[in-house]
Amino acid sequence: MRYRKLGNTGLIVSEVGFGTIPILQGSVPVLPEYFNLNEKQAVSVMESAFRLGCNLYDTAVVPEYGDAEIKLGKFALGIGREKIVISDKARFFDGNEMYTAVLESCENLGTVPDIYFVHQADPDHEEEIFQKGGALDALCELKEEGRIRFTGLASHYYDILLRGAKDARVDVLQGSGNLLERGMLERIAGEPLFRAKGFLVNKVFAAGILPAFFPVEVLIKAVLSYPVSCTLVGIGSVEQAEAAFMQDTLSADVLLPDFEQVLTVLEKKFRPIPCDRCQRCLCPRGTEIHTVFRQYNYYFLGKDYWALRKLDMGIGESAELCRRCTDMPCLSMCPAKIRIPDEMERILRLVRDHTIVRHSF
Ligand code: SF4
Ligand code: SF4
Repeated sequence: MRYRKLGNTGLIVSEVGFGTIPILQGSVPVLPEYFNLNEKQAVSVMESAFRLGCNLYDTAVVPEYGDAEIKLGKFALGIGREKIVISDKARFFDGNEMYTAVLESCENLGTVPDIYFVHQADPDHEEEIFQKGGALDALCELKEEGRIRFTGLASHYYDILLRGAKDARVDVLQGSGNLLERGMLERIAGEPLFRAKGFLVNKVFAAGILPAFFPVEVLIKAVLSYPVSCTLVGIGSVEQAEAAFMQDTLSADVLLPDFEQVLTVLEKKFRPIPCDRCQRCLCPRGTEIHTVFRQYNYYFLGKDYWALRKLDMGIGESAELCRRCTDMPCLSMCPAKIRIPDEMERILRLVRDHTIVRHSF
């Protein structure tokens, strides 16, 4: 295992971190794969990762990640609290709610988390998070009180992460990216403001989709080829821990496919929309283009029911907006030159076809 600096925090973290979703028990919607580990099994899996060099463990407040936070606290106590870095988070945007959530996390963990993130910061809640008395102010207060060591902001949106990178209250950022959805990582690599912050990357396997197409070591090394601190991988078994944390020893010269080569691999299954989710296209009519394209690609990559359900909710309106859009500003923003309105029509046809088939049963 190799280690990297976590921005300016002074912490040194393993290049691969342990994502705790797969060790939770309970009915929690975040689960892509469900292992249902009891406490003893969960602690044993975390120990196996530790023995392979992992020192960063990422979790979230109960019940967002089920009981994972409690299990992580037990593991930390057993292994020696000072030997690991605990990254925790909660999806609260109001300052008071965030403050209470952190106190609950401390109780669940039985210790102080090293980093605490505002989780899933999105455009609908951005102002609330950043405003006076919002979640970021609460984290700063908690840091001053010694209840957390560093503040964090986690988001799937580049513009929100960039705002976090400019904000002195934020110590660590957490964003998403992978071999396919690499556009945001490329923008982060090109923006020096990010260098001062620690940066954790999640969704390295794209919700469990990509390991069916590419070796785990390629997926991990692809993310680590960007200037980030640590890539988070969800681990639910000793075998998964070995695959993720021993990637270092497997091959030093793994060849990383470029974006075109990734598309070529996926084209054996379907015609993907060649969107790397750089998020440069901003639709003034409110369509979140990169999210719609992700759901389309994920539909063919194994998340059919989930993706169709999401697309079903808004694609009719998005396609109609495109039909009525005369200036189409998104077209000039897309470096991949994707015919965005045409793709919206293609997605609408897919959803209609499958909705009709579904309803005919
Ligand atoms: S063409 Fe469609 S996606 Fe593009 S700006 Fe117009 S409404 Fe938005
Ligand atoms: S559609 Fe184009 S601009 Fe928009 S996220 Fe995808 S690649 Fe980037």
